[in-house]
Amino acid sequence: MRHYGLIGKHLSHSFSANFFRVKFENEGIDADYALIELEDISTIRDVVAQRELSGFNVTIPYKESIIPHLDELTPEAKAVGAVNCVVVRGDKLVGYNTDITGIEASLEWLDMEHITRALILGTGGASKAVQYVFKRNNIAFSTVSRDAERGDYTYDALNADIIATHTLIVNATPVGMSPNKDDAPALPYEYLGAEHKVFDLIYNPATTLFLSRAEELGATTMNGILMLQTQAIASWHIWQRAYEEFKEGNIC
Ligand code: NAP
Repeated sequence: MRHYGLIGKHLSHSFSANFFRVKFENEGIDADYALIELEDISTIRDVVAQRELSGFNVTIPYKESIIPHLDELTPEAKAVGAVNCVVVRGDKLVGYNTDITGIEASLEWLDMEHITRALILGTGGASKAVQYVFKRNNIAFSTVSRDAERGDYTYDALNADIIATHTLIVNATPVGMSPNKDDAPALPYEYLGAEHKVFDLIYNPATTLFLSRAEELGATTMNGILMLQTQAIASWHIWQRAYEEFKEGNIC
Protein backbone atom coordinates (compact mmCIF):
# COMPACT_ATOMS: atom_id res chain seq x y z
CA MET A 1 0.00 0.00 0.00
CA ARG A 2 1.21 3.51 -0.86
CA HIS A 3 0.92 6.28 1.70
CA TYR A 4 0.24 9.95 0.94
CA GLY A 5 -0.85 12.86 3.11
CA LEU A 6 -1.26 16.54 3.77
CA ILE A 7 1.25 18.41 5.94
CA GLY A 8 0.00 21.52 7.71
CA LYS A 9 -0.67 22.94 11.15
CA HIS A 10 -4.47 22.91 11.61
CA LEU A 11 -6.17 20.52 9.24
CA SER A 12 -9.62 19.78 10.63
CA HIS A 13 -11.35 20.99 7.43
CA SER A 14 -9.45 19.44 4.57
CA PHE A 15 -10.84 19.05 1.06
CA SER A 16 -7.88 16.86 0.03
CA ALA A 17 -8.43 14.02 2.53
CA ASN A 18 -11.95 13.42 1.25
CA PHE A 19 -10.94 13.94 -2.39
CA PHE A 20 -8.21 11.29 -2.25
CA ARG A 21 -10.25 8.85 -0.11
CA VAL A 22 -13.04 8.88 -2.71
CA LYS A 23 -10.56 8.69 -5.62
CA PHE A 24 -8.67 5.71 -4.14
CA GLU A 25 -11.94 3.93 -3.31
CA ASN A 26 -13.58 4.52 -6.71
CA GLU A 27 -10.50 3.60 -8.72
CA GLY A 28 -9.42 0.64 -6.57
CA ILE A 29 -6.03 2.24 -5.84
CA ASP A 30 -4.21 0.61 -2.91
CA ALA A 31 -3.26 3.84 -1.14
CA ASP A 32 -4.27 6.06 1.76
CA TYR A 33 -4.06 9.79 2.48
CA ALA A 34 -3.51 11.05 6.04
CA LEU A 35 -3.91 14.48 7.60
CA ILE A 36 -0.58 15.18 9.32
CA GLU A 37 -0.50 18.16 11.66
CA LEU A 38 3.04 19.31 12.47
CA GLU A 39 4.07 21.80 15.11
CA ASP A 40 7.49 22.15 13.51
CA ILE A 41 8.35 21.58 9.84
CA SER A 42 11.95 20.63 10.68
CA THR A 43 10.66 17.16 11.69
CA ILE A 44 9.45 16.47 8.13
CA ARG A 45 12.13 13.90 7.22
CA ASP A 46 11.39 11.81 10.33
CA VAL A 47 7.68 11.95 9.53
CA VAL A 48 8.27 10.84 5.93
CA ALA A 49 10.39 7.91 7.14
CA GLN A 50 8.05 6.83 9.97
CA ARG A 51 4.93 6.97 7.80
CA GLU A 52 6.71 5.61 4.69
CA LEU A 53 5.18 8.42 2.60
CA SER A 54 5.48 8.23 -1.20
CA GLY A 55 4.39 11.84 -1.54
CA PHE A 56 2.51 14.59 0.24
CA ASN A 57 0.81 17.96 -0.13
CA VAL A 58 1.83 20.98 1.90
CA THR A 59 -0.45 23.73 3.14
CA ILE A 60 -0.50 26.81 5.40
CA PRO A 61 1.83 27.71 7.07
CA TYR A 62 4.55 25.49 5.56
CA LYS A 63 4.46 26.13 1.80
CA GLU A 64 7.54 28.37 2.01
CA SER A 65 9.27 27.09 5.16
CA ILE A 66 9.47 23.52 3.83
CA ILE A 67 11.86 24.57 1.04
CA PRO A 68 15.14 24.34 3.06
CA HIS A 69 14.19 20.73 3.95
CA LEU A 70 13.87 19.63 0.30
CA ASP A 71 16.61 18.27 -1.98
CA GLU A 72 15.28 19.57 -5.30
CA LEU A 73 12.71 22.03 -6.59
CA THR A 74 11.10 22.28 -10.02
CA PRO A 75 11.89 25.57 -11.79
CA GLU A 76 8.26 26.65 -11.18
CA ALA A 77 8.37 26.00 -7.43
CA LYS A 78 11.71 27.80 -7.28
CA ALA A 79 10.39 30.83 -9.17
CA VAL A 80 7.29 31.13 -6.95
CA GLY A 81 9.19 30.33 -3.75
CA ALA A 82 6.46 27.97 -2.53
CA VAL A 83 5.81 24.22 -2.62
CA ASN A 84 2.45 22.48 -2.21
CA CYS A 85 3.36 19.00 -3.51
CA VAL A 86 6.36 16.80 -2.68
CA VAL A 87 7.49 13.51 -4.25
CA VAL A 88 9.63 11.13 -2.19
CA ARG A 89 12.26 9.60 -4.52
CA GLY A 90 14.31 7.20 -2.43
CA ASP A 91 15.85 9.43 0.23
CA LYS A 92 15.26 12.60 -1.81
CA LEU A 93 12.37 15.03 -1.39
CA VAL A 94 11.42 16.90 -4.58
CA GLY A 95 9.17 19.98 -4.35
CA TYR A 96 6.55 21.02 -6.94
CA ASN A 97 3.98 23.81 -7.15
CA THR A 98 0.65 22.54 -8.50
CA ASP A 99 -1.24 25.68 -7.36
CA ILE A 100 0.12 27.12 -10.61
CA THR A 101 -1.71 24.46 -12.62
CA GLY A 102 -4.90 25.24 -10.66
CA ILE A 103 -4.60 28.97 -11.36
CA GLU A 104 -3.99 28.36 -15.07
CA ALA A 105 -7.06 26.12 -15.31
CA SER A 106 -9.19 28.81 -13.61
CA LEU A 107 -7.93 31.56 -15.91
CA GLU A 108 -8.58 29.39 -18.93
CA TRP A 109 -12.16 28.91 -17.76
CA LEU A 110 -12.53 32.68 -17.24
CA ASP A 111 -11.08 33.31 -20.75
CA MET A 112 -8.36 35.96 -20.77
CA GLU A 113 -8.89 37.10 -24.36
CA HIS A 114 -10.20 40.60 -23.59
CA ILE A 115 -8.26 41.18 -20.37
CA THR A 116 -6.15 44.31 -20.66
CA ARG A 117 -4.55 44.28 -17.23
CA ALA A 118 -5.13 42.40 -13.97
CA LEU A 119 -5.24 43.58 -10.37
CA ILE A 120 -4.07 41.13 -7.71
CA LEU A 121 -5.20 41.74 -4.11
CA GLY A 122 -2.62 40.59 -1.55
CA THR A 123 1.11 39.89 -1.81
CA GLY A 124 1.46 36.51 -0.01
CA GLY A 125 2.22 33.01 -1.31
CA ALA A 126 -0.96 32.60 -3.38
CA SER A 127 -0.45 36.06 -4.90
CA LYS A 128 3.10 35.10 -5.92
CA ALA A 129 1.77 32.00 -7.72
CA VAL A 130 -0.80 34.17 -9.56
CA GLN A 131 1.93 36.68 -10.47
CA TYR A 132 4.07 33.84 -11.86
CA VAL A 133 1.18 32.61 -14.05
CA PHE A 134 0.50 36.12 -15.35
CA LYS A 135 4.16 36.63 -16.24
CA ARG A 136 4.27 33.25 -18.00
CA ASN A 137 1.14 34.13 -20.01
CA ASN A 138 2.13 37.73 -20.78
CA ILE A 139 -0.74 39.25 -18.81
CA ALA A 140 0.15 42.68 -17.40
CA PHE A 141 -0.77 43.13 -13.73
CA SER A 142 -0.56 45.39 -10.67
CA THR A 143 -0.69 44.34 -7.02
CA VAL A 144 -2.66 45.83 -4.12
CA SER A 145 -1.36 45.64 -0.56
CA ARG A 146 -2.23 47.09 2.82
CA ASP A 147 1.39 48.20 2.88
CA ALA A 148 2.50 50.79 0.27
CA GLU A 149 5.97 49.22 0.14
CA ARG A 150 4.75 45.75 -0.80
CA GLY A 151 2.29 46.49 -3.62
CA ASP A 152 1.76 48.85 -6.55
CA TYR A 153 -1.33 50.35 -4.86
CA THR A 154 -2.85 50.50 -1.41
CA TYR A 155 -6.62 49.96 -1.10
CA ASP A 156 -7.18 53.69 -0.42
CA ALA A 157 -5.57 54.59 -3.74
CA LEU A 158 -7.98 52.53 -5.87
CA ASN A 159 -10.21 54.80 -7.99
CA ALA A 160 -12.50 54.66 -11.04
CA ASP A 161 -9.60 54.90 -13.46
CA ILE A 162 -7.63 52.03 -11.91
CA ILE A 163 -10.69 49.77 -11.74
CA ALA A 164 -11.62 50.62 -15.35
CA THR A 165 -8.15 49.75 -16.67
CA HIS A 166 -7.88 46.47 -14.72
CA THR A 167 -10.56 44.23 -16.19
CA LEU A 168 -9.55 41.17 -14.17
CA ILE A 169 -9.47 41.36 -10.36
CA VAL A 170 -8.05 38.46 -8.33
CA ASN A 171 -8.54 38.11 -4.60
CA ALA A 172 -5.42 36.37 -3.25
CA THR A 173 -6.10 37.39 0.36
CA PRO A 174 -7.99 35.41 3.02
CA VAL A 175 -10.51 38.28 3.38
CA GLY A 176 -14.06 36.82 3.21
CA MET A 177 -12.97 33.26 4.00
CA SER A 178 -15.14 31.25 6.39
CA PRO A 179 -15.89 32.01 9.24
CA ASN A 180 -15.45 35.71 8.29
CA LYS A 181 -18.04 35.54 5.52
CA ASP A 182 -19.25 39.12 6.03
CA ASP A 183 -15.87 40.59 5.11
CA ALA A 184 -14.86 41.66 1.60
CA PRO A 185 -11.73 43.33 0.19
CA ALA A 186 -11.93 47.12 0.48
CA LEU A 187 -12.57 47.99 -3.18
CA PRO A 188 -14.62 50.81 -4.71
CA TYR A 189 -17.17 48.24 -5.95
CA GLU A 190 -19.33 50.88 -7.64
CA TYR A 191 -16.83 51.05 -10.54
CA LEU A 192 -17.12 47.34 -11.37
CA GLY A 193 -19.27 46.36 -14.37
CA ALA A 194 -20.03 43.79 -17.04
CA GLU A 195 -16.57 44.24 -18.61
CA HIS A 196 -14.93 42.88 -15.44
CA LYS A 197 -13.91 39.34 -14.55
CA VAL A 198 -13.41 38.55 -10.90
CA PHE A 199 -11.55 35.52 -9.49
CA ASP A 200 -11.58 34.72 -5.78
CA LEU A 201 -9.06 32.04 -4.71
CA ILE A 202 -11.23 31.35 -1.67
CA TYR A 203 -13.36 28.19 -1.97
CA ASN A 204 -15.15 28.29 1.39
CA PRO A 205 -17.72 29.82 1.14
CA ALA A 206 -18.25 29.01 -2.53
CA THR A 207 -19.70 32.51 -3.05
CA THR A 208 -17.83 35.11 -1.05
CA LEU A 209 -19.20 38.59 -0.44
CA PHE A 210 -16.53 39.82 -2.92
CA LEU A 211 -17.98 37.57 -5.66
CA SER A 212 -21.64 38.30 -4.88
CA ARG A 213 -21.05 42.09 -4.95
CA ALA A 214 -19.19 41.82 -8.26
CA GLU A 215 -21.88 39.56 -9.70
CA GLU A 216 -24.62 42.06 -8.77
CA LEU A 217 -22.73 44.65 -10.83
CA GLY A 218 -22.64 42.37 -13.88
CA ALA A 219 -19.10 40.97 -13.58
CA THR A 220 -18.21 37.38 -14.54
CA THR A 221 -17.07 35.50 -11.43
CA MET A 222 -15.03 32.44 -10.51
CA ASN A 223 -14.30 30.91 -7.11
CA GLY A 224 -11.33 28.82 -5.92
CA ILE A 225 -12.96 25.38 -6.25
CA LEU A 226 -11.62 24.56 -9.73
CA MET A 227 -8.13 25.65 -8.58
CA LEU A 228 -8.41 23.40 -5.52
CA GLN A 229 -9.55 20.38 -7.53
CA THR A 230 -6.99 20.95 -10.29
CA GLN A 231 -4.01 21.23 -7.93
CA ALA A 232 -5.08 17.96 -6.25
CA ILE A 233 -5.39 16.14 -9.61
CA ALA A 234 -2.03 17.59 -10.74
CA SER A 235 -0.42 16.32 -7.50
CA TRP A 236 -1.85 12.87 -8.13
CA HIS A 237 -0.43 12.81 -11.69
CA ILE A 238 3.03 13.74 -10.35
CA TRP A 239 2.93 11.02 -7.66
CA GLN A 240 1.60 8.44 -10.11
CA ARG A 241 4.32 9.23 -12.66
CA ALA A 242 6.99 8.86 -9.95
CA TYR A 243 5.45 5.52 -8.92
CA GLU A 244 5.39 4.24 -12.53
CA GLU A 245 9.06 5.25 -12.95
CA PHE A 246 9.90 3.49 -9.70
CA LYS A 247 8.11 0.31 -10.86
CA GLU A 248 9.95 0.39 -14.19
CA GLY A 249 13.20 0.52 -12.24
CA ASN A 250 14.29 3.93 -13.52
CA ILE A 251 14.60 5.24 -9.97
CA CYS A 252 16.25 3.49 -7.07
P1 NAP B 1 -1.67 34.55 3.34
O1 NAP B 1 -0.22 34.42 3.04
O2 NAP B 1 -2.16 34.35 4.73
O3 NAP B 1 -2.23 35.98 2.87
C1 NAP B 1 -2.03 36.48 1.60
C2 NAP B 1 -1.99 37.99 1.62
O4 NAP B 1 -3.26 38.52 1.89
C3 NAP B 1 -1.08 38.60 2.67
O5 NAP B 1 0.25 38.54 2.27
C4 NAP B 1 -1.64 40.00 2.78
O6 NAP B 1 -1.05 40.86 1.78
C5 NAP B 1 -3.12 39.82 2.47
N1 NAP B 1 -3.92 39.85 3.69
C6 NAP B 1 -3.84 39.01 4.75
N2 NAP B 1 -4.75 39.36 5.69
C7 NAP B 1 -5.40 40.45 5.21
C8 NAP B 1 -6.43 41.29 5.72
N3 NAP B 1 -6.97 41.07 6.90
N4 NAP B 1 -6.83 42.32 4.94
C9 NAP B 1 -6.30 42.56 3.73
N5 NAP B 1 -5.31 41.81 3.20
C10 NAP B 1 -4.89 40.76 3.93
O7 NAP B 1 -2.48 33.52 2.44
P2 NAP B 1 -2.13 32.75 1.09
O8 NAP B 1 -1.54 31.45 1.41
O9 NAP B 1 -1.38 33.63 0.15
O10 NAP B 1 -3.62 32.45 0.55
C11 NAP B 1 -4.49 33.53 0.22
C12 NAP B 1 -5.88 32.98 -0.05
O11 NAP B 1 -5.85 32.09 -1.16
C13 NAP B 1 -6.47 32.19 1.12
O12 NAP B 1 -7.82 32.51 1.26
C14 NAP B 1 -6.34 30.75 0.67
O13 NAP B 1 -7.34 29.91 1.21
C15 NAP B 1 -6.51 30.90 -0.83
N6 NAP B 1 -5.89 29.78 -1.55
C16 NAP B 1 -6.70 29.00 -2.30
C17 NAP B 1 -6.17 27.95 -3.01
C18 NAP B 1 -7.08 27.10 -3.85
O14 NAP B 1 -6.69 25.98 -4.20
N7 NAP B 1 -8.25 27.59 -4.20
C19 NAP B 1 -4.80 27.67 -2.95
C20 NAP B 1 -3.97 28.51 -2.19
C21 NAP B 1 -4.54 29.57 -1.48
P3 NAP B 1 -0.62 42.36 2.19
O15 NAP B 1 0.02 42.23 3.53
O16 NAP B 1 0.31 42.76 1.11
O17 NAP B 1 -1.87 43.18 2.25
